[in-house]
Formats: sequence, C-alpha cells, structure tokens
Amino acid sequence: MAKKTIIGLYPGSFDPVTNGHLDIAQRAHKICDQLHIAVVANPSKKVLFSVEERVDFLKKTTRHLPKVVISSFNGLLVDYARHIKAGMIFRGLRAVADFEYEFQMALINRSLYHGIEIVFLVPNEKFIFLSSSAIKEVAMLKGDVSGFVPAVVEKALRKIY
Ligand code: ADP
Repeated sequence: MAKKTIIGLYPGSFDPVTNGHLDIAQRAHKICDQLHIAVVANPSKKVLFSVEERVDFLKKTTRHLPKVVISSFNGLLVDYARHIKAGMIFRGLRAVADFEYEFQMALINRSLYHGIEIVFLVPNEKFIFLSSSAIKEVAMLKGDVSGFVPAVVEKALRKIY
C-alpha cells in the first residue's frame, strides 16, 4: 500500500518567532512530509511586527528545514488546514498554563474538522518559559534576548527599542 503523505500545519502569531517556536518546528518537521508554518493574520491580537515581517523572519530561520513552507492566513484555522490538505495541526505545550486553552481549542477544531489530528509537542526544557510576549517585554527594557531568539529577530527588536 502506498504511504500517505503527511501534511502538517504549525499555526501561530509568531510575533516574533522565538527559539521555542523553532524547537517545535524542528520536531514537527521530523514527523511530516511537508510542514506548513503559518502566521495567523487575524487582527484579534495587538502585534508588534506586520504579517510580512513575521513571515520573513520565519523564512530566514527555517531555511535549513527542506520540507517547510511558510505562509499566512486569515479566518478559521480549520478552513486553512482543509485548504492545504493538512492531516495534522501542531501546537507547542509549555508549562501547564497552556494546557486548558489548547485542550479546549483542540476539541473545538476537531469537531469542526473531523479529519484532523491535533498533535502537541513539548519543547526542550530550556524553552519552557519562553514566549514572544516575554521577549518583547525584555527587549523593550533593553535586556539581552540573544539566547532566546534568532539573530535576525534580535536585530529587528534592537532597531525598534
Ligand atoms: P498563538 O497566538 O497561536 O498562541 P504563538 O506564536 O504564541 O501563537 O504560539 C504558536 C504555538 O507555538 C503555540 O502552540 C504555542 O504554545 C507554541 N509555543 C510558543 N512558544 C513556545 C515555546 N517556548 N515552547 C514551545 N511551544 C511554544
């Protein structure tokens, strides 16, 4: 029997991408034949970087992952998953704080799209407390974020603050 191609979708705000996101992307990349990393473009969250900038950071930092496709989308996550024929949605789980919201969203998304599996990946423990919002706060206060984000993001943050 022919092996089914596994298309994965890793969605997020990525405002901006951190080493924690990249850790999850690398793990998801091992599982899929094609991995779409997609910036959620809905204006529901106040963001620092434009969709184009966030896409650009992701493109520059995932060049070493040959099966990755970077994009952005508006609207419902499951509609986008259907559109790209994804069979799996990847989400990263940090501390327990992520769990309740992610669990609820996973169940809602699966009820909207029965063919989808939501896969939770756990990052290296170095990144358990890392979030884009914490990085923006540290950068705003002129702290050193070089251990937490790729160089291109660090440079962009330094320019802003
Ligand atoms: P969203 O607004 O969709 O939560 P984020 O960019 O904050 O977008 O996160 C995208 C995904 O990456 C989420 O599943 C989030 O839990 C995960 N993630 C973010 N930071 C980390 C990290 N440090 N370690 C593991 N997963 C992470």
